Amino acid sequence: MRIVKGIPVVDGIVIARSFVLQDESYLLPPQVAVEPSPEWVQGEWERFQRAVESAKAEVRQVADELAQQAPLGEAATDVTRIMGFQAGLYEDPTFAEAVREQIEAGIAPEHAVSKRVATYRKQFELDPFTRRLLPDLEEFERRLLRHLLGEQRISLRDLKEPVVLIARDLTPQQAAELPPEWVLGFATDLGGKTSHTAILAQSLHIPAVVGLGHITGVVTGGELVILDGRQGKVVIDPDEVTLRSYEQRRERYSVLQRALEELVALPAETLDGHQVRLFANIEYPEEIQQALRVGAEGIGLYRTEFLYDERNPDPSEEDHYAAYSRAIELLGDRPLVIRTLDLGADKFVPEGLDHEPNPFLGCRSIRYCLLEREDVFIRQLRAILRASVRGDVRIMLPMISSLEELQAAKAVIEEVKGELRRSGHAIREDIPVGIMIEVPAAALMADVLARYADFFSIGTNDLVQYVLAVDRVNPKVQDLYQPAHPAVFRLILSTIAAARRHKIPVSICGELSGDPHFTLPLLGLGMRDLSMAPSLIPKIKRFIRSITAVDAGKAVDTMLGLHDATETLEYLDARAREIDPAFFL
Ligand code: PEP
Ligand code: MG
Repeated sequence: MRIVKGIPVVDGIVIARSFVLQDESYLLPPQVAVEPSPEWVQGEWERFQRAVESAKAEVRQVADELAQQAPLGEAATDVTRIMGFQAGLYEDPTFAEAVREQIEAGIAPEHAVSKRVATYRKQFELDPFTRRLLPDLEEFERRLLRHLLGEQRISLRDLKEPVVLIARDLTPQQAAELPPEWVLGFATDLGGKTSHTAILAQSLHIPAVVGLGHITGVVTGGELVILDGRQGKVVIDPDEVTLRSYEQRRERYSVLQRALEELVALPAETLDGHQVRLFANIEYPEEIQQALRVGAEGIGLYRTEFLYDERNPDPSEEDHYAAYSRAIELLGDRPLVIRTLDLGADKFVPEGLDHEPNPFLGCRSIRYCLLEREDVFIRQLRAILRASVRGDVRIMLPMISSLEELQAAKAVIEEVKGELRRSGHAIREDIPVGIMIEVPAAALMADVLARYADFFSIGTNDLVQYVLAVDRVNPKVQDLYQPAHPAVFRLILSTIAAARRHKIPVSICGELSGDPHFTLPLLGLGMRDLSMAPSLIPKIKRFIRSITAVDAGKAVDTMLGLHDATETLEYLDARAREIDPAFFL
């Protein structure tokens, strides 16, 4: 048994065989232990040798082509080094011997190669010199596996049994396309708690653990694994006792899920009668049915940048319009908060933004729309405004960091309205234009911005990242990514106070709103509109129905006296366990 720890992103327990998704989006066939007859060993050994020969020939050819393109200088030296390294491994007798031994033990060569490379990887990581060679090692493995597997490659669509997917990373698009009937959970080397893939997994309700470091080097595929989405662990080849205890936890978990289903029709109301409205965050209109099924009162955040992907990197006005119309059709007259494009950094990176030295501080989001591609912004606004007459549509601007920016964006909206009016389109003249409060400057200037914005929605995912200077997707600094940091709490507090003073609605749509640890203080601060991944709505509703607003107010007083994230989190955790122990199985 082996346990690898990472970052929990979607709650749930899955017990299933592992499947490793290689970088090129293919999976190793399951590792089936065979009784190795001499004929089988010979056949597999020859298959391995053939793969080595053809991979070697390919490396030679690539090296020749590259050398012709860059015969002199640094590039040529690099090419020679990389190719020399790979060619060296193909010739290395100890590598071939290790693979041979595994084949003789009944392991298919692709798994033998993967295992051996995993051993090299561990050794390479120990030394700064060899660490530099890790990408070359990855490349060597990818190439050899490609030659070994040939037509045997399995795509995700070919899965025939439930699995826990193991991958280096998943793009949001890959996560969106996972077949839910077969991929019961996933675990990745990379990623952070609020990375877009994690957010999508939450929406799809697939238990997930990310930031595991090198799980792809530990799991080869086919092992029984336990994915613990609560504690952020993956247990590989569990022993009997561990397996039994997880089976019991899984059972308790499904009992809780069934209890949550029964809350769907009940209001989100505190024990002392305060009503809270729960909205859903979505990436695709198709999520709306599920959101309504679990009791969402509307959409508090529609992340429209998910319309962009490799297949459609430049959606037309009609693509936008069709998506918004579909969303409105599904929602009826419930509110739909459409966030304008938040492209770049952790989200889809359009052409032109791919080489920024510091993407999170770069020309992303509203800056991209105003400074770089106003045409793209206008295209989206036209579609939103045209759709606005069909339902309760609101516009929300992301990443606002100053009044000038808000005014510039509002000026573009006015221009687009004028154009549409002139060309005879019906539009909603008084469409509300709100902003996300996700940059510390906006939170600090909330009393000014509140005079010009129709509503606020606090985006804690970015707010935490920017106020604490911690990259939200970098696993190395995830322990420093602390939503419970008092600095975050103070910014939320002053934002709510500013909104109240200026009598504009304020809601919260960062991941914090779906974390029961924060329900008590958020209610205590007077927050009454929360927007979160649909799958979290029943859980938060159950929490709300177990607390009083009076008690929530007292929790805020206590928190104001706490000085760091650790003691704040300890306090919140103790309170949450007291309120609803069932969530802490
Ligand atoms: C946020 O930053 O909190 C937010 C809701 O937006 P996103 O996660 O899409 O950046
Ligand atoms: Mg954000």
